[in-house]
Amino acid sequence: MRRKKLVIIGGGAGGASVAAEAKRRNPALTITIVEQGAYVSVAACPMPYYIGDVIKDQNHLIARTPEEFRKGGIEVLTNTTAVELDTDQRVVKLSSGRGLSYDYLVLATGSKAQRLGISGEDLEGVFTFKTLADAFRMKSYLTSRHCRKAGRNIGDVQMSFPGVVGAQSFRIFNLEVAAAGLGEKEAADSGYEPVSTIIWGSSIAKVMPGAKSLGIKLLADKITGQLLGAQSVGEIGAVNRINALSVALWSGLNIDDIANLDLAYSPFFSGPWDVIHIAAQNLKKQMTI
Ligand SMILES: Cc1cc2nc3c(=O)[nH]c(=O)nc-3n(C[C@H](O)[C@H](O)[C@H](O)COP(=O)(O)OP(=O)(O)OC[C@H]3O[C@@H](n4cnc5c(N)ncnc54)[C@H](O)[C@@H]3O)c2cc1C
Repeated sequence: MRRKKLVIIGGGAGGASVAAEAKRRNPALTITIVEQGAYVSVAACPMPYYIGDVIKDQNHLIARTPEEFRKGGIEVLTNTTAVELDTDQRVVKLSSGRGLSYDYLVLATGSKAQRLGISGEDLEGVFTFKTLADAFRMKSYLTSRHCRKAGRNIGDVQMSFPGVVGAQSFRIFNLEVAAAGLGEKEAADSGYEPVSTIIWGSSIAKVMPGAKSLGIKLLADKITGQLLGAQSVGEIGAVNRINALSVALWSGLNIDDIANLDLAYSPFFSGPWDVIHIAAQNLKKQMTI
């Protein structure tokens, strides 16, 4: 049988994630990423910290190189622009002149930095900051110039006790330890059918200095998926994870909700997929729902 072809236009975070997930789900797919720039799978979010010298090694800004994609069976065409689509023939025309046929097409072309059209934007030292090439340009300008440091100018309500979910935290040596909700025995004693998972991830983005290992345990009811309890331990980040999960417990969220929570992301505070998401996705595999 002919192998189905997936063509992804754009090799940013979105395109790279689609490629990796599609290959995982269906290894027989022939997948090609078409990227007009020189890099794919660029971690844009840590780029400011590269400019600020917090991240020293530029290789840390690339989550997966084209060679690594190829080893995983995904073809990558860099410095190649998709210039035209023929949706009748299902062909993408490339800047190289080649036509790439597809069964499935994903447009992951992202966005461009917008110039504001205001006076001064063409002056030396004014940059757009969107791509890795922009980051290199800015960094090289700052390391080759004596720049002036920019200033930092810039009645009577009746109350009732609503209950608790048992959120708690303490410090032992250099570790934060926190928990909320039920443990396995309490959950079983209360009539639930508990299933649990323990995962170890990173408290903040792995590439950032100061990243520490963070353990998290989630407990949920096997039949309904309702979150029943959570525990976490690590040098940093355990308490704030449990605070988020305490709200989830209070609100009666289930594991699907938690796997898709919109958590604030920045490399200083978590990975793009937080340990909470990873643990929930892992626990979901044990569910009957
Ligand atoms: C400096 C910076 C810091 C950020 N920090 C954070 C943060 O802390 N937290 C957060 O949540 N988000 C952050 N973001 C946003 C986040 O990086 C973006 O949401 C994410 O990169 C979007 O990914 P994407 O794949 O959809 O698009 P993009 O990253 O824009 O990728 C699209 C790709 O498609 C390619 N392309 C476009 N047209 C064509 C074509 N015709 N042919 C071939 N290739 C094409 C482009 O070259 C590009 O590589 C930050 C972004 C930047 C720039």
